[in-house]
Amino acid sequence: MFGTAWRVGRIAGVEVRIDSSWAVIALLITYSMYLRVSLLYQGLSTAGAVGIAILAAVLFFGSVLIHELAHALVSQARGIRVQDITLFLFGGATRARVESRGPGDEFLIAVVGPLTSGLLAALFGIVAGFGRDVLSSPLVGTLGYLAWTNLLLAGFNLLPGFPLDGGRLLRSAIWKATGSLRRATRVASLAGQAVGWLLVAAGVAYLLAGNLAGGIWFAFIGWFLVQAARSSYEELQLRHLLRGVEAEDVMAGNLLRIPPDLSLQDAVDDYFMRYDHGAFPVDEQGRTIGLLTLRGVRRVPRDEWSTRRVRDHMVPVGDQVVVAPEARMDQVMGKLEDGEAGRVLVVQGGEVVGIITPTDLTRWLRRWRALDGSAR
Ligand SMILES: [Zn+2]
Repeated sequence: MFGTAWRVGRIAGVEVRIDSSWAVIALLITYSMYLRVSLLYQGLSTAGAVGIAILAAVLFFGSVLIHELAHALVSQARGIRVQDITLFLFGGATRARVESRGPGDEFLIAVVGPLTSGLLAALFGIVAGFGRDVLSSPLVGTLGYLAWTNLLLAGFNLLPGFPLDGGRLLRSAIWKATGSLRRATRVASLAGQAVGWLLVAAGVAYLLAGNLAGGIWFAFIGWFLVQAARSSYEELQLRHLLRGVEAEDVMAGNLLRIPPDLSLQDAVDDYFMRYDHGAFPVDEQGRTIGLLTLRGVRRVPRDEWSTRRVRDHMVPVGDQVVVAPEARMDQVMGKLEDGEAGRVLVVQGGEVVGIITPTDLTRWLRRWRALDGSAR
């Protein structure tokens, strides 16, 4: 579901992104607002209706963004760094750097979202109420509609299924009661799947009753929630598993080293074409002085490969993301997701002893599941 996401800016130190799926929804919502406004207020010109529809859509997505910002700000106030906010489909997601450290944090971070939506609903309602005599009636009607939409947003997010806010509240309560984040996540995620299937069932009921748009909408959101509940539980399981694993267990070790005075052509022929790696350390007199990457080689025109030296096209080790062999893999995974290069170097005593790429991690997991998966 998270395809390409565009960065749109930073608010309070948090990166805000927009998922590509969102563009379609933004158009759909603006269009449905337009239909609603031009149907309700026949006297309105087309330009006026379009203007109000765009304003309503902007205020709607602004509301979603403020909801997510509330999560992000409370999260940061509790000392949990926020990676980014992504707006997608019918809502948004705030990604935190680490999981909450306790049920109290989890509760506060979750509860502030629906609370903010509730406040926004009240705010829109008040402005609509006081503006009744001052503003035009399509504008007042639209503000009232936004009040209801925010109330709906608060209500939907309070459904007790992880990863919705209500599911997080449920998780924090079970976490508090049992002391086990794992068990709490499992229950909350099962609840999320149950809520998702209920929404799908509601969608089917709507379809059978002849309400096509409502049916598709409910079924789609329900299905999405089922997937999200499932994958967020799997991700947590993975992080849990990787907490007990060190970088040196996963890394590709026994690295072949390239001499710095080799030509790029020989490096390609004898290393890149022969072994399944995207990068090799460059060693001079037993010390690693850089890294030659396939991407770096590709930047040089092919007809110059035989005259250029490895030394002049390697990247310094200092520019790479570096971890110690005993670094915990759940933290290394965060660095892998962050880094532009998609690669983490394992360094011991100034020497590169291993490289970890997402492929290495996938390979390790596959082996682990084959050996130990039956025990889980
Ligand atoms: Zn929320």
